[in-house]
Amino acid sequence: MKQVPLFINGEWVESTSTRKIDVTNPATQEVIAQVPCASPSEMDAAIESAKATFKTWKEVAISERARVMMRYAHLLKEHQEELANIICEELGKTHEDAMGDVWRGIEVVEHAANIPSMMMGETVENVARNIDTYSYTQPLGVCVGITPFNFPAMIPLWMFPLAVACGNTFILKPSEQDPLCPTRLVELFEEAGAPKGVLQVVHGDKEQVDRLLHEPEVKAISFVGSVGVGQYIYKTGTDNMKRVQAFLGAKNHMVVMPDANKNAVINNIVGASVGAAGQRCMAISVAVFVGEAKEWIPEIREKLAAVRPGHYSDPEAAYGPQITPQAKQRIEGLIEQGKKEGANCVLDGSNFSVEGYPNGNWVGPTMFTDVSADMEIYKQEIFGPVFLTMNVDTLDDAIELINNNPYGNGTSIFTSSGGAARKYQHNIEVGQVGINIPIPVPLPFFSFTGWKGSFAGDQHAYGKQAVKFYTETKTITARWFEDDVAASAGPNMSIT
Ligand code: NAD
Repeated sequence: MKQVPLFINGEWVESTSTRKIDVTNPATQEVIAQVPCASPSEMDAAIESAKATFKTWKEVAISERARVMMRYAHLLKEHQEELANIICEELGKTHEDAMGDVWRGIEVVEHAANIPSMMMGETVENVARNIDTYSYTQPLGVCVGITPFNFPAMIPLWMFPLAVACGNTFILKPSEQDPLCPTRLVELFEEAGAPKGVLQVVHGDKEQVDRLLHEPEVKAISFVGSVGVGQYIYKTGTDNMKRVQAFLGAKNHMVVMPDANKNAVINNIVGASVGAAGQRCMAISVAVFVGEAKEWIPEIREKLAAVRPGHYSDPEAAYGPQITPQAKQRIEGLIEQGKKEGANCVLDGSNFSVEGYPNGNWVGPTMFTDVSADMEIYKQEIFGPVFLTMNVDTLDDAIELINNNPYGNGTSIFTSSGGAARKYQHNIEVGQVGINIPIPVPLPFFSFTGWKGSFAGDQHAYGKQAVKFYTETKTITARWFEDDVAASAGPNMSIT
């Protein structure tokens, strides 16, 4: 059985731990590897190496740190297909979706190659007579990343390239459910010229995360994952005086105005709701139809009914399986609950089967209409291919409904009215807004800015905010005396 190694002080090592977790192919249940829960001494070694390496890495010229990122971006592009194939096997994504997962990460690495201009400080001359003030941004030290299963390339790449480019060292704790893609990402980082000790990889679950949360040498923690775990990490990390950014769950709404382009609405809803098996924190899980727009609901149902999940080797598959049998069971439980609560299940993907893959965690496209805000299917993040529709009379009603939802990751409005779009973007309490764009994930020169229950912290992922998150500002106020300059110029020399 393939054992997933740890990466400590620049060496790939097999863990001595006997506690291991199976990594399975979710389309077949075949165990493809085992991931160890790193032992306390392995955790100590990773922390010690990260701490020691920080002293030398922060002194490396910023342009050399940028060059590592340039080489890394090239290598990732060369290996994009290979990385996507790993994702297909351990997570079940379709090939196209897996390629997108890697590509979104590559874009962040390209952005990290701009680090010299992003780390520039500020200067003001003559804050008082002969006194200047200027600031530098300096790295923090050892930073940590704890990542979820659903984007095993993109999300680790949201974190360590920027943290390391800033001059920090980094400990990555990838999801135990799909650690093989992150392993390959780190091998390529080493190949790109990242010095020994700059990046460590430890594996495990709560026990290993707790070790990092209580370690004084860890200065900052980036987390992406579920609400309960993220809140725990935010609270425990900040209690231990660490900087924490935690990207959490979501419930994303699309508002459909009656003046919207109907074809665009229908085509975009299908991919945005059930695409990637609904395992996207930016998936559109609820559409809110304003007024007459609800008349398009039957056509949307027809389109969704034609969507088929399948194995990644099938180019016709629209999406893959859920990550685990437990995830499938939970989603099917919520579908049952939705029916009991009185929502209208117009498409039921429970007990779905895919020919040739009887053991896959398949859930077919599912759609509920007439959903209300008090139902469990509305309140919970389902994280599956389950699409809900709600009806309201006015745009104001839609805004009120969405603002009352505890999450605030992403939203979109489909309309042909500039006025409606402007009103929506201004009033909606959600951090990422699409106008006739269903999933408005910003490119890396902006930041990934979820709000409310979808985020805990101050500075968001990538963009300028990530550089702020991974650095500290040092402000220097300096005075030089003219007498001293004259003295140092020597007795026979003039300084004028
Ligand atoms: P998860 O919370 O189960 O796991 C995330 C990480 O936390 C993993 O590395 C896991 O090992 C670790 N972990 C799990 N339980 C822990 C515990 N008790 N203590 C400490 N660490 C623990 O999340 P997941 O199921 O892998 O990912 C899906 C979730 O991630 C969804 O809720 C989704 O919305 C969210 N997500 C959010 C964003 C965003 O940007 N807001 C992006 C992607 C995913």
